[in-house]
Amino acid sequence: MSPSPMDAIVMYPLPVIGHLKSTVELAKLILNNLPSLSIHIIVFKPPCDDGLNASFINKVSGTMPSIIFHYLPTISLPASFISSIRTPETLTFEVLLLNNPNLNQALGSISENCTIVAFIADFLCYAALSVTAKLNIPTYEFYTSGAACLSLMLYLPTIHKNTTKSLKDMDMDTLFDNIPGMPPVPAKDMPKLLQERDSKIYQYFLDASIQCPRSAGIIINTFESLEPRAVKTMTDGMAAPDSPLPSLPPLYCIGPLIALDNRGDNIGGGGEPECLAWLDMQPSQSVVFLCFGSLGRFSVEQLKEIAVGLERSRKRFLWVVKNPLSEEKPDTGLNLILPEGFLDRTKERGFVLESWAPQVEILNHDSVSGFVTHCGWNSVLEAVCAGVPMLAWPLYAEQRCNRILLVEEMNIALPMAESEDGFVSSAEVEKRIRELMNSEEGNSVRKQIMAMKNEAKKAVSEGGSSSVVLSKLVQSWKLN
Ligand code: UDP
Repeated sequence: MSPSPMDAIVMYPLPVIGHLKSTVELAKLILNNLPSLSIHIIVFKPPCDDGLNASFINKVSGTMPSIIFHYLPTISLPASFISSIRTPETLTFEVLLLNNPNLNQALGSISENCTIVAFIADFLCYAALSVTAKLNIPTYEFYTSGAACLSLMLYLPTIHKNTTKSLKDMDMDTLFDNIPGMPPVPAKDMPKLLQERDSKIYQYFLDASIQCPRSAGIIINTFESLEPRAVKTMTDGMAAPDSPLPSLPPLYCIGPLIALDNRGDNIGGGGEPECLAWLDMQPSQSVVFLCFGSLGRFSVEQLKEIAVGLERSRKRFLWVVKNPLSEEKPDTGLNLILPEGFLDRTKERGFVLESWAPQVEILNHDSVSGFVTHCGWNSVLEAVCAGVPMLAWPLYAEQRCNRILLVEEMNIALPMAESEDGFVSSAEVEKRIRELMNSEEGNSVRKQIMAMKNEAKKAVSEGGSSSVVLSKLVQSWKLN
């Protein structure tokens, strides 16, 4: 039985740009497999909205009418919440929880015109599970990072049970070496938001980890041959040792799911065609690209240090510099932030781009042969698909765990060493960039990432692991 034209999939992403983009890519993939479906994406406005989501959603709505966005009504948090010490992440969870009645209503109105065959909630939007359970809608979770990191999240209840101290109060070198499918992780490299066990945000993540096994299936943006050990751990039922459920739901590794063209996302504007034109003029495989995701910002002092390291490396570079951390010198021109004369001295071999860069096009440009990255999972997959080796400089979220995986498990990145407070010296920047671009270690990660690029292609081609798994999933919706 094939689904009627009115059958719908509803998706519920966390409203931050990295998660939203992956959700839209997943929507496109589902539509490619089953064009008769309609896809509805329910979004809510995060309390600290930077406007990135709205411009991205407008672009998608303008080009893909089969993806329909629904905005939940804006929730006004009590002033006491905003003025308290709650972080933007905590506030987002508060809004998420308060939104359940609105979500319920939105699902009600979508189902007036369609049958909702499946609901796909972001792993962090676990609060929705209680709404969809009451409505009897099969609910899947979408984990936008990799399988090993999911395994770490599913191990959080075990860590919580076995320790009484917050991670931040432990010896920072304490090793967690029992996380299924993951190399040992020192306490200092555990995600920052998990460091304080008495915080609300920790509790939210713990709840997300406990709820996840209750879903009908877990969709992950990875592919089997990138993370064979972690995927096997999950499918063998070794992850989530403290889950009260007898087994994990089915796992669907459907990646790599990346936007093939992010030119014109233009979030923050400016500089796009110029930087691609500049790349056209550079020799093949000569440029190192530095970009740190949607949120990666540095202090003025750190920016200066990067500039000195880049200049001394004598390599060609394309560097995306977002505004420095705002409490320092907001709206200061680059000329005043970077070392005196830097832009002038490097103009023959460097291009500095303020704000948003067309990262996918850049990584796939023939001139680019190295990527200094904050290790956000989308960036990692984009580098894999482009076959560009990485220099791993994690900044936030689960990125320090990703660095361990990229360097120790996958051998597709070299590490950037930092001091205890996270500062990276110009000497380190210079040394590592040279190493990445010309050295035996650099060649080794280059060779491995080229192999992974081929594996990624295989995974999504006909008969490949990701495409088989995706058709199985879509098929299961057809049969319902
Ligand atoms: N990105 C981009 N240009 C930029 C910064 C980011 O195109 O200047 C894109 C990047 O290609 C990736 C996404 O934004 O698709 C960032 O996601 P990721 O998971 O790497 O990091 P996050 O921003 O979520 O920390």
